[in-house]
Amino acid sequence: MNAVIDIAPAPMQQGCGDAPVLRERGQREVFCGLAGIVWLHRKIQDAFFLVVGSRTCAHLLQSAAGVMIFAEPRFATAIIDDRDLAGLADANAELDRVVTRLLERRPDIKMLFLVGSCPSEVIKLDLSRAAERLSRSFSPRVRILSYTGSGIDTTFTQGEDTCLAALVPELPASDERALMVVGAVADIVEDQFRRVFDGLGVGPVHFFPAHRAGEMPPVGPGTRFVLAQPFLADTARALELRGAKRLPAPFPFGAEGTTLWLQAIAREFQVEATKFVSVVGPRRERAARALARHRVLLEGRKVFFFPDSQLEVPLARFLAREMGMVPVEVGTPYLHRQLVAPELALLPAGTQLSEGQDLERQLDRCRAARPDIVVCGLGLANPLESEGLTTKWSIELVFTPVHGFDQAADLAELFTRPLARRMKLVA
Ligand code: SF4
Repeated sequence: MNAVIDIAPAPMQQGCGDAPVLRERGQREVFCGLAGIVWLHRKIQDAFFLVVGSRTCAHLLQSAAGVMIFAEPRFATAIIDDRDLAGLADANAELDRVVTRLLERRPDIKMLFLVGSCPSEVIKLDLSRAAERLSRSFSPRVRILSYTGSGIDTTFTQGEDTCLAALVPELPASDERALMVVGAVADIVEDQFRRVFDGLGVGPVHFFPAHRAGEMPPVGPGTRFVLAQPFLADTARALELRGAKRLPAPFPFGAEGTTLWLQAIAREFQVEATKFVSVVGPRRERAARALARHRVLLEGRKVFFFPDSQLEVPLARFLAREMGMVPVEVGTPYLHRQLVAPELALLPAGTQLSEGQDLERQLDRCRAARPDIVVCGLGLANPLESEGLTTKWSIELVFTPVHGFDQAADLAELFTRPLARRMKLVA
């Protein structure tokens, strides 16, 4: 058995493994974790997300996810009003009433998430106890779980992490040796990865979360899991507590990132090098060819990341190594060193890393650097555009399928498009 996979990363000068990190704690400009409901409700198709929050939370969800007119909705907000906040009403009794009405009316719901928000935390409504209490009434027909999406605790991608971490203790136990891909990826990406795993002879493969509440993957000491998203630290810890082992790897963004991600899996499952090259090689070459035309526009340009999605480090690695861009500052809400260690090793030496935020100071650094493109949240994009900077909304990088070989050029295009538009405007 030959477990040596001979598609190696291109050499680059020493990376950022031990690079100093600028840690800032000041005013932040980020979305809250409720945003995760937008993609999670599409992924787990018989789940319902009940936000226990305010009108602001309801507005955020409606504007982020759009209003569903023809389908039965699969998320809603139970509004905490002034009487609840003043302690005049029994919020637990109200919540039980709302949940009972919802589940009686909607037999299609098999999993209900009670999602905490800033207001539910302010009045200290214990949603985990509420979930236990309600489970006693509705189990086994409906599983009821809770997690927080509160803006006090979470940035926008963390909502997925808190949701999946809440699901892990519910996963069935198994000793089966299997691969688990962790993180909600687009269905098209899941299908493509399944074809690659089939070609490599790696299996069984489970994706977490599954499409249905009753099909969540088993976990145990035989489980080898690989993260598809870098923001799943709590989920990874919870899986490790169940005996699963994480395969460290760069994330599957770009031709190189996807190759290295698959390589880590192939090594663990002892795929022969010749098979790996024959299955992965042509896909990688196709992706590299598709990326070449984007590199022409991006090469040598400076990119500045404000902390938002936690995708910043892998994306900076992709843009630096495959697109020839210069990451001036890579800001991230949290730097989970262990999870992104293989990414940091590939970042160009000297890249400024920052964790957390002190908004005004970071804006000053950004203005001074005059980057060609700024990756930031919605709230910063318009003001920066009005100052003549070109921006990319980080939320688009989460909502668009960008994983894997077939999406590599789409990922690059998310950066070339705003640059091309700016060039037209100034021409
Ligand atoms: S959870 Fe907090 S930050 Fe998010 S919409 Fe509700 S009130 Fe706003």
